[in-house]
Amino acid sequence: MQSRPPSEHEPRRCRLCGEQRPLTFEHIPPRSAHNRAPAAIQGIETWLARDSDPNAVARRPQVQQRGSGAYSLCGPCNNLAGRLYVPEFRHWIEMGTTVLFGPDDLAARFRDERETAYATVKLKQRRPARFVKQIATMLLAMSPPGLGDNFPELRAYAADPNAVGFPDRLRLYLALYAGPHVRYAAGAATVRNFLTTGTEIHHVYELAYPPFSYILSLEEQTPVIETGNASNFGSLRIDQSADVELQMIVGYGETPLPLDLRSPAALTADTSEREPFMPPWGGK
Ligand SMILES: [Zn+2]
Repeated sequence: MQSRPPSEHEPRRCRLCGEQRPLTFEHIPPRSAHNRAPAAIQGIETWLARDSDPNAVARRPQVQQRGSGAYSLCGPCNNLAGRLYVPEFRHWIEMGTTVLFGPDDLAARFRDERETAYATVKLKQRRPARFVKQIATMLLAMSPPGLGDNFPELRAYAADPNAVGFPDRLRLYLALYAGPHVRYAAGAATVRNFLTTGTEIHHVYELAYPPFSYILSLEEQTPVIETGNASNFGSLRIDQSADVELQMIVGYGETPLPLDLRSPAALTADTSEREPFMPPWGGK
């Protein structure tokens, strides 16, 4: 992730509109959504370095003093998201934070459960399309331009407030995510349904930042995780309000592996009981 301003001799493309324009610092997630503290970033630096150097080697984790983010959006795109999407996004962050760490404290309750836990959240009169457009903006902003180049419909959906319909070739999933790791995975491949119903290699982008993991799945045949598909929120217009009900995995980020939502108890059990090797995504 580019955390310093690009020099003038180093033109870069806005990840949202795709144009060569001066880039501004985009907080990912937005500053108002619990992203103010200095952040240790692992992994994403390498992915984004490929922007300029396909053979970039991994660097040590960086601490970004201004919170997590990148110089990846032009000023107009940054402002658009800040004005139209972020205020709605903040409500969902509050909801997720309350469910995980509020009076019910699901994060603490399920830490010791080996089985995957689920929670169904209900929201009254929210504007889900704005929330989804903000997620699409963040996923584009944290990724090399290839994501938007290969899926221009995702750019179009995020950049045009009036665009309706989440792109057909893509699926968006949400999981509750209690941390402690923050994960940026831009273009990971992960194998699901291992040795059971047939194998599918899923290509995913994950932003895992409490209280949510946002997962973008490319051209999947089978759901990349068992619940939490929020793609149909995109079928609403930007000003449309709706009552929302969504079942999500109560996930943890004990490892830096994309989509590894196992609880501490499940991780310990997998590590100590299963020999000689069990993939982190489980074999169920
Ligand atoms: Zn732009």
